[in-house]
Amino acid sequence: MPMVIVLLFFFITKNVLLKPIETNKDALTYLTQLGYNQNQCNSTSKLPCSLSTSSGIREYQKAFGLKETGQLDKSTKELLNKPRCGNSDTPHASKLSKLASMNSKWKKKHLKWVLRSRSSHISEEQTIQIIHEAFEAWTKHTPLSIERVCTNCEADVVFDFADGDHHDGAPFDGPGRTLAHAFFPEDGRVHFDASEKWTEKFDGHDTNLFLIAVHEIGHALGLDHNRHDKNSIMYPYYQFMDKHRILPDTDRQSIIDIYGSRETRKSLDPYSKMIAVLRNKATHKVLDSNSNKDVYTLDHNGSNYQKWVFIQQDDGTYILKNAATSFVLDSNNEHMYTHVLNGGHFQKWRFHRQNDGSYVMKNLATSRVLDSNGAGNAYPLDSNGGDYQKWFIEAI
Ligand SMILES: [Zn+2]
Ligand SMILES: [Zn+2]
Repeated sequence: MPMVIVLLFFFITKNVLLKPIETNKDALTYLTQLGYNQNQCNSTSKLPCSLSTSSGIREYQKAFGLKETGQLDKSTKELLNKPRCGNSDTPHASKLSKLASMNSKWKKKHLKWVLRSRSSHISEEQTIQIIHEAFEAWTKHTPLSIERVCTNCEADVVFDFADGDHHDGAPFDGPGRTLAHAFFPEDGRVHFDASEKWTEKFDGHDTNLFLIAVHEIGHALGLDHNRHDKNSIMYPYYQFMDKHRILPDTDRQSIIDIYGSRETRKSLDPYSKMIAVLRNKATHKVLDSNSNKDVYTLDHNGSNYQKWVFIQQDDGTYILKNAATSFVLDSNNEHMYTHVLNGGHFQKWRFHRQNDGSYVMKNLATSRVLDSNGAGNAYPLDSNGGDYQKWFIEAI
C-alpha cells in the first residue's frame, strides 16, 4: 500500500502541470511545433484540417517507424507524450532554411560559453563540469576549442535553465515532454526546462543532464535531429545511454563533416600559412606591437599591429611575423620585443596545446614562455601553468 501511495504521488507531481496529448487537435498543434504538417493546415490551405491532421500524423508515424495509420492510435499517442527535445524534427524543411542549414556552422574556431542559470537539483559547480564535458564530447573530434567565461561576460554559446514562457517563442511545458531546446549557429542559445528533475547520476532515473546537454550542444554546433537512428545522440526522444557510449560513431562523423577532424588539422598544419590574433586567457587582451619594436598586450582593435603571420620551421617551431611592421617576435631572458628576421633561436617559438584549446608558447633559445599581466605587459618567464601564460590562437 505505501508503494501505491508513493507511485501515485510521483505520478501526480510529475504530470500536474502538463496536459497530455489526447485529441487530434492537441496532436495537430504539437506536430506543427515539431515541424510536421507544415504547409497543410493554415488559412491558405484548401484542405480541410482533419485531412491534414491525418497526413501530419502519418508523416510522424513514418519518421519513427510506427504503423502508418494516420490515426492518433495508442502507440502514436504514447510516443507523442514521451520526453524529448523541443527542437523541430524538420527545422530546415523550407527552401530558405535549407540554405541556412548548409551554412549552419560557427565560422570561428574558438567558442566562449557561459552558464547564466542552473537547475535547483544540481550544484553550479557540477553543472559547469557536466556542460564542459558535454561540449568536449563534440569539440575534441574537431579543430574547435571552448572556453568558459564569467557569468556576466559575453559568450558565443549561452546556457540557461528557464521556466514556461521565456520569451523566445518556444515556451517550456512544465515537467515531462519538452526537456530542452537549442538554436542553430551562430545563435548559441541553449535552454533547459527548469521544471524537469535534472540529475547528474547515470542510474536511469530522472533526466540526465549530460545526455541532454550533449544533444542540445549538437544543435548549437549545427546538427539537426536524426530520427532514423536510435543510436544517435541526436535522436529527438530522450533515451538513457551509458556515458561511455558518448559520442556515438554516427554523431562523431556528423560533426567532422561540418568542422573537419582534429587529426586533419594536425597533418595539414594550417598554421604554416596562418594569420592570427593571440588572445591571453587570463586578461583577454591580445598580443600587440608597434614600430618602435615594443611588444605588449592591448584590447583587441582589429589593427594589423595585432595580427601575426605564423611561419612554420622545419623543426616544428614557428616564427611570428607582425602583419603591420614585418618585424618578428623576439626575446631574451628578460624582455619581449620585435626585430628584423635573423633566423636565430630567440625568434623561434614552440606551441604546446593545453586541454582547453589554448597554447603555451615556449622560446627555443631561452625555454621561457610568453607571459603577460593585467597591466598590458608581455615578458618571458619560466612556465608556471597559469592562465596569463596561455594564449588562444584566433585565425583571421
Ligand atoms: Zn533536439
Ligand atoms: Zn528557449
